[in-house]
Amino acid sequence: MEWPIYLDYAATTPMDPRVAAVLGQYLGQNGFFGNASSSTHVLGRAAARAVESAREHVAALLDADPREIVWTSGATEANNLALFGVMRACARKGRHLVTSQTEHKAVLDVCRRLEREGCAVTYLAPEPDGLIPPERVAAALRPDTVLASLMHVNNETGVVQDLAAIGAITRSRGILLHVDAAQSAGKLPLDLQTLPVDLLSLSAHKLYGPKGIGALYIRQRPNRVRLEPLLYGGGQERGLRAGTLPTHQIAAMGEAFRIAGENMVVEQARIRELRDRLWQGLAGLGEVELNGHPERNVAGILNVSFVGIAAEALLAAMPEIAVATGSACTSAGGEPSHVLRAMGRDPFQARGAVRFSLGRFTTVEEIDHAIAAVRAAVNRLRELSPLWELRRRGLDQRAVNWAAP
Ligand SMILES: *Cc1c(COP(=O)(O)O)cnc(C)c1O
Repeated sequence: MEWPIYLDYAATTPMDPRVAAVLGQYLGQNGFFGNASSSTHVLGRAAARAVESAREHVAALLDADPREIVWTSGATEANNLALFGVMRACARKGRHLVTSQTEHKAVLDVCRRLEREGCAVTYLAPEPDGLIPPERVAAALRPDTVLASLMHVNNETGVVQDLAAIGAITRSRGILLHVDAAQSAGKLPLDLQTLPVDLLSLSAHKLYGPKGIGALYIRQRPNRVRLEPLLYGGGQERGLRAGTLPTHQIAAMGEAFRIAGENMVVEQARIRELRDRLWQGLAGLGEVELNGHPERNVAGILNVSFVGIAAEALLAAMPEIAVATGSACTSAGGEPSHVLRAMGRDPFQARGAVRFSLGRFTTVEEIDHAIAAVRAAVNRLRELSPLWELRRRGLDQRAVNWAAP
C-alpha cells in the first residue's frame, strides 16, 4: 500500500507517540492492569490513581472540576448520555429540546429517537456561512424547553458557534445547554468557569488519543445537572456510567489532553498557516467555493467545492491524498452532506464538497504536495468535460449540474 498524505484529521487522528507510551503501561502483567474498583490491593489502587490523574488533566483543559468529568466510550456516547439523560430526568418539567440542522449525527439521531418517545425537537437552520444566530435560539425557546444542544465546532466546515452569546440566553431562561465539543477541545480555549455551558461532550481520538474513549462534562456548581444514566451495573462514575473503567484508554486520554493544553496556541497558529497556504493554493484554480465562515473557523478544517467536479471523482483521481467528502460518517452513505444542504448549498454543490483537515503531524511539504495533486486532478477533470468548456467560454453559466451523481 502506498502511504497517502493524511488530511483527514477531523475524522480521526493518529495517536501521539507520547500517548501510546502511556497506554502501554496499563495493560500487561508488569503494568498497572488492575481494576480501578479493586481497592483491596495495590494494583487496583494504582489503577484508580491513574484514572483520577487523567480526570484532572481533562478537567484542567476545560477549567472544570475533576468531579464534573464522567468517562464514556467517546463523544457519541457522551451525546447520548447528555440528551437522553437530561430529557428523561427533566420529563416532568418539560419535553422540548432545541438543536440545529448542522449537528453531528450522534446528536441528530438521538433527537429523532427522542421524538419517537414523545419529545418535541426544534431543528434550527444556520445562516449560509454556517452560524446559528443567537437570536434564533432565543426565538425557539418555549415554556416547556429544558435543553438546547449545539455543537462548538462543526466537524464538516470548521465553523465556530458563539457559545458565550447562546449560553447567556439559555442560562437567563433557566434552560440547560449541551455542547458537542469533539472538534474544539484542545484546539480552542474552553473555560467552563466563565462559559455558561452545562454539559459538554469530548472524544480522545480527535485529539491524538485512542479511539473508544471520551467523556461528558456535567456541571456541578452552582447547580448540579441531574441525569438518568444509560447503563446500569457496578455503580462506577457515581452511578452515571456503569462498567469497568478502561484504565489504559483513560490514562491515554488524560495524557493526550495534557499535551494539548501545553502548546495549543502555538500549534493552532502553525496549523492555521498551513491551512491558509492550502486555501491560497487551491483558490488559484478559479471557481473554488469555500463552504464555511471566512473568519469564525477552527484552524485545521478547510471545506471547499470545486465547481463542476463531483468530490468522488476528484478523490478517485488523487488516491495519494487521504481526504473526505463531507464527513466520514455521511460519505459512507453516499448522500449529499446534511450540513451543507442546511447551509443552502444545492445538491450538486454539496456533492462537490471536499473536506481537508490538518493536524499536529501535517508538514508544509505535505501541503505543497497536496496542492499540486489537487490542481492537476481538477484541471484534468475539467479538461475532460465538454460542458466545462462551454462554461469557460461563457456559453452556459449554469453548466454546473452535469457534475451530478
Ligand atoms: C467525531 C465526532 C463525534 C463522535 O465521536 P466518537 O468519539 O467517535 O464517538 C461526535 N461529534 C463530533 C462533532 C465529532 O466530530
